[in-house]
Amino acid sequence: MSLAHGRHFLSIPGPSVMPDRVLNAMHQAAPNIYEGDIITLTAEVFDNLAKIGRTTEAKPLIYMANGHGAWEASLTNTFSRGDTALVLFTGRFARGWAEQAERLGINVQSIDFGPRSPVDPQQVEDALRADTAGKIRAVMMVQTDTATSVLNDVPAVRAAIDAAGHSALLMVDCIASFACDAFEMDAWGVDVMVTGSQKGLMTPPGLGMNYVGPRALESRERADLATPYWDWKPRCNPQVYYQQFCGTAPTHHLFGLHAATSMILEEGIENVWARHVTLSKAVHAAVEAWGQGGPLECNIAEPAHRSRAVTSIRTGSIDANALRRYCEDELGLTLGVGLPLGSPVMGGREEGVFRIGHMGHLSPPMILGTLASIETALTALNMPHGQGAVAAAAAVIAGH
Ligand SMILES: *Cc1c(COP(=O)(O)O)cnc(C)c1O
Repeated sequence: MSLAHGRHFLSIPGPSVMPDRVLNAMHQAAPNIYEGDIITLTAEVFDNLAKIGRTTEAKPLIYMANGHGAWEASLTNTFSRGDTALVLFTGRFARGWAEQAERLGINVQSIDFGPRSPVDPQQVEDALRADTAGKIRAVMMVQTDTATSVLNDVPAVRAAIDAAGHSALLMVDCIASFACDAFEMDAWGVDVMVTGSQKGLMTPPGLGMNYVGPRALESRERADLATPYWDWKPRCNPQVYYQQFCGTAPTHHLFGLHAATSMILEEGIENVWARHVTLSKAVHAAVEAWGQGGPLECNIAEPAHRSRAVTSIRTGSIDANALRRYCEDELGLTLGVGLPLGSPVMGGREEGVFRIGHMGHLSPPMILGTLASIETALTALNMPHGQGAVAAAAAVIAGH
């Protein structure tokens, strides 16, 4: 008999759990989109996004699109056909971004750091030094790769670009990591940042953001791939309200995002980051305890290189799909499937991996409930695992 009743737990890396305050904010009649409250609310949303991204120099833009749409916006405004991008692969997601770039006619030069390691800034510096003709228009990287759950060091890549004396722009995909891992748009010298509504921002899928720094906006002047809907220019300097969205505003998503970004700023962005550090360490402590008596292990061995938003767990001889299925059907907990860690195939699955999303609206009882449920499944299915995982997670939280 299934025990999957009561509130269903969603522990996947996006869409993340939506707070009741966000859902309630969306539950209202359609507003006038030409005047009134929506105008002020929209301005507040953009202000909140700038604060969360720690920028006064860059302009956050909102598209009615998922992350893939925001990727395309970032590319078409930065590049011309035939330009070169240096793309840093640390799993699946920078590859997806690079595939879009290639289809747009951008020449992709890549460095692959493998499925279990972060970007090595020295190799980036070397590649830029070797580009004596100055062909590379931008370096593209992912802060947290959601397939491998690696956390890359963004300021170290900026330092590598500067050390090479190269003029390439720095473009960062923070779709999984935004409002989870620390991020400083201005202080880190990021030129373009791409994110979306449905992960750390706790709002339904459907909004994609580009943060456009001053150097990026300059480079837009030369980008011949720009198209009307995605064009940064009218969105950066709107003469009338509707130009911010190139048409009707995503009214209800804005209501939700206003609530979510207000919650983040009321908690304090640094406190949000610190909460994600503690809860992610609790997950890592549990996986390490399980791994003492069985094959489970974090895909990323070095704790400093692990994401605070998602953890990919290798299951070895344990059937990851059977584990997920039991959690879902018998316990009411949905875990993330394994995504291809390094293969060029998009849309596939990685067997022998599952993922825990720990992003956004998350408390100790939620994460401890998830970990205890996984332990329940391991026990029920006679899967080998070490003892003490929940206690280890609780100790991390107790000592925070
Ligand atoms: C989720 C995600 C994407 C893709 O976002 P969609 O909204 O699914 O298009 C891209 N990059 C990273 C790092 C992600 O986590």
